[in-house]
Amino acid sequence: MSFSIRWKVTLGTLLAVMLGLVVAGGLAFRSIEQLELARAEEALAARTGLAALALQPLLAPSPPPSDRLQIQARELGIQANARVTVIDRDGRVLADSALSDDALPTLANHRMRPEVASALATGRGTDIRQSDTTGQRLFYLAMRVAPPGAHAISIVRLAMPLTTLESRIRDLQQALGIAFGVAFAVSMLLSFFIARGLTRPLSEIAVVARQLAGGSFERRIPAASNDEVGVLATTLNQMADQLDHDITALRRLETVRKDFVANVSHELRTPLTSIKGYVEALLDGAKDHPEEATRFLQIILKQSDRLNLILEDLLQLSQIESGRVQFRQEPVGLRNVVERTLASVKPLAEKKRHTLSVAIPPDLPPVSGDEDRLVQVLTNLLDNAVKYTPEGGAIHVTARPVREDETIELTVSDTGFGIPAADRPRVFERFYRVDKARSREMGGTGLGLAIVKHIVEGHGGQVWVEGNDPIGSRFVIRLPALKDPRGAVQLSRDTTA
Ligand code: ADP
Repeated sequence: MSFSIRWKVTLGTLLAVMLGLVVAGGLAFRSIEQLELARAEEALAARTGLAALALQPLLAPSPPPSDRLQIQARELGIQANARVTVIDRDGRVLADSALSDDALPTLANHRMRPEVASALATGRGTDIRQSDTTGQRLFYLAMRVAPPGAHAISIVRLAMPLTTLESRIRDLQQALGIAFGVAFAVSMLLSFFIARGLTRPLSEIAVVARQLAGGSFERRIPAASNDEVGVLATTLNQMADQLDHDITALRRLETVRKDFVANVSHELRTPLTSIKGYVEALLDGAKDHPEEATRFLQIILKQSDRLNLILEDLLQLSQIESGRVQFRQEPVGLRNVVERTLASVKPLAEKKRHTLSVAIPPDLPPVSGDEDRLVQVLTNLLDNAVKYTPEGGAIHVTARPVREDETIELTVSDTGFGIPAADRPRVFERFYRVDKARSREMGGTGLGLAIVKHIVEGHGGQVWVEGNDPIGSRFVIRLPALKDPRGAVQLSRDTTA
């Protein structure tokens, strides 16, 4: 089992706090003991000094008067609230406030007692131990006394029981223990809440990240702080936004692709079905009737041409879309483009008795682009104008510079069926037709305007369609005007036709 980050942080903090408390507690316990012992030693030393001073006169004669020494020791013992012992330099006990007079001679030699030995050597000595004599745990302090005129030094030793000192130390340590316990409890609570505050946004981030990984992009992390966690949350939110858009775009593209494949299949099936039908009819016997056979073969030829046309348009469109076709960027005079196009469209227009007119100012600035492609654009527009205008219509081509957006505007208007406003933005989609039957009858592929749009946009221009007054349609193209090497647009005069 793995711990959540919240528990890791909580337990980690607690462990660190506990370690700190244990170390600090241990040090505090020991220093309290040492401090108390040092204080006790100081007090005992002062009392020993005073006792030594009081005993000094009795220690000058040799040998010292043991009766008086014993009385004095007892008296001092009561005053100093301690056991008073007087020892000569050989370790013999001369007097002891805790013993009766007759017990004195039975006492063992005290020379080797640690406090006595160190007092003999350095003048002062201490020890803590259980007393052989009284059975209590005692704090001993011995001092060397050299009374003036005496020829031997003596040792005065005071001892006091440690019970009060030890219980004081215990009390202090107990208080300290309680304080540390409270500190631990408080830090436990604090670390839990801090860990929760710190890790809650992280848990939320984890949840959202898991959802992102699973492909769902709806949930966002509520904005919290400005720290690293906050930055992480914001970044993740941004990533989710980005992914959401990307995925939406991808899905849309996928739909467009599927629609396109379906459309292409449908478009190709119509002429193919027709060809198949007439071939079958020929095989079924129509081939034996020359007139009928010729008619059928003509239909097959027409449908094959249509197939060819669709495939050519598709090929062209896919080349433009894939970016494999590089548009040239050369100065192109639109007058030239219009003249070249009209030459190829004229026979068809004349067949339908349309009138063709052109209005282009003589000093129209050139655009930057690919002349052949622009001829194709205009051919498609004029083709449509001829197709979708009933006999005897009027088709008008204009070009003029537009000062505001530094473009050259090219328009093709007709007096034909027109396009309902709702369909206008959609006619530039692949295979979109306002009237399917009419388009087929006219030999349209439904791709002409899609090609127009691609080429125009590839030139950095725009194309749209408006209603023509009073009837018909008006296609408008705006192409960026050619800039001269100094960057100025060559729009000398705002000339209109
Ligand atoms: P199509 O091969 O069908 O002509 P286009 O992409 O050139 O395909 O045009 C798409 C549709 O836009 C046409 O089917 C037609 O409905 C409409 N359209 C295009 N040009 C005109 C026009 N000048 N007048 C009326 N409708 C038009």
